[in-house]
Amino acid sequence: MSFLPIESATPKARRSRQARVVWDARVVTVGGDAPVRIQSMTNTDTLDVIGTAIQVKELALAGSEMVRLTVNTPEAAQAVPHIREQLDRMGVDVPLVGDFHYNGHRLLTDYPACAQALSKYRINPGNVGKGDKHDRQFGLMIEAAMRWDKPIRIGVNWGSLDQELLASLMDENNRRSEPWGAKPVMYEALITSAIKSAHQAVKMGMNENQIILSCKVSGVQDLISVYRELAKRCDYPLHLGLTEAGMGTKGAVASATALSILLQEGIGDTIRVSLTPQPGESRTQEVVIATEILQALELRSFVPSVTACPGCGRTTSTTFQELTQQIEGYLRAQMPVWREKYPGVEKLKVAVMGCIVNGPGESKQADIGISLPGTGEAPAAPVFIDGEKRLTLRGDTIAQEFQKIVEAYVDKRFGVQTRTELS
Ligand code: SF4
Repeated sequence: MSFLPIESATPKARRSRQARVVWDARVVTVGGDAPVRIQSMTNTDTLDVIGTAIQVKELALAGSEMVRLTVNTPEAAQAVPHIREQLDRMGVDVPLVGDFHYNGHRLLTDYPACAQALSKYRINPGNVGKGDKHDRQFGLMIEAAMRWDKPIRIGVNWGSLDQELLASLMDENNRRSEPWGAKPVMYEALITSAIKSAHQAVKMGMNENQIILSCKVSGVQDLISVYRELAKRCDYPLHLGLTEAGMGTKGAVASATALSILLQEGIGDTIRVSLTPQPGESRTQEVVIATEILQALELRSFVPSVTACPGCGRTTSTTFQELTQQIEGYLRAQMPVWREKYPGVEKLKVAVMGCIVNGPGESKQADIGISLPGTGEAPAAPVFIDGEKRLTLRGDTIAQEFQKIVEAYVDKRFGVQTRTELS
């Protein structure tokens, strides 16, 4: 029997233009051959300068490469430069993005310190005014972007779609001999609004390389349909996100499903997971999910990955679950320091397995793995390093000892690399 080797699946490459989002010495490239970037948005009151700065810092430490803030009132606009100063004092150079609706033209004109402190402006063409006012107010925002040399995201959202544009497309559709259904007209309106606004900005003199587009919807299939077409029709970098994704598992799964399909097709240059936090849940959860999506698709690495089996009737105690949770939490908590100290550590693969069935096999595939004893097995946990069984742990301190082994492995493997590079 003859057969050809099976190719590994990899995300396709889509070449878009490249935009730069800059704060001070920090330059975040978006699009082109840049990695897919992660964005997030604060949910603090922008007037709360310290609270907002702390949340921005948390989001940045979790992996957000741009953080968006609501700028909705003159007071919020006045607070923005203070938030920026506070972040600079805290050593956080993540670029800030201003989210404007209805009055952005006034705020960006009347509060130049705000316009300057932001690194990018999000403009929603459905919320910049109606009729004659639309073009004038949109124009004022573009003028501010050009004056301060800031990129913009033209962020269309079907919850706030330009109703005049939608009505005109509906009329046009009604005149067809075979009218389209309501959804295709809605898709067309979203895409037209984004591309038409981009053309309008370019006509005013805006550099094409400073424009990013998004067309957010809340349905997975709708998002896929809209972005496939948007990607065909333009080469602007695209910001992806399922808007109003929802809470908890539902929001995480819906976002991961929609974003993964598009990213695999090479569509999307920045992403946001718009998760409704559960009461008491950290805002950083949306960033954690975004990093996990990119990591699962092997587009980027952020934290060492932990392979763990689901457990079954062979795992009778909670030791295995606790060890997995502990090691995952430990690895994530180390990353702010490890990222600098151990370059490449984010590619580390750890396995925590529940019994002898798949434990040794999966542990050998990882850089470092442990196979815990299942029901009826001898109370011993073999540890595999670089594919070989090196030692066996026993007793009540398996978790602590395994953590120490991981720590020593990281220092030896990634610390040596740093020292070699420096020498
Ligand atoms: S590795 Fe063992 S404990 Fe884990 S799911 Fe498989 S059989 Fe169950």
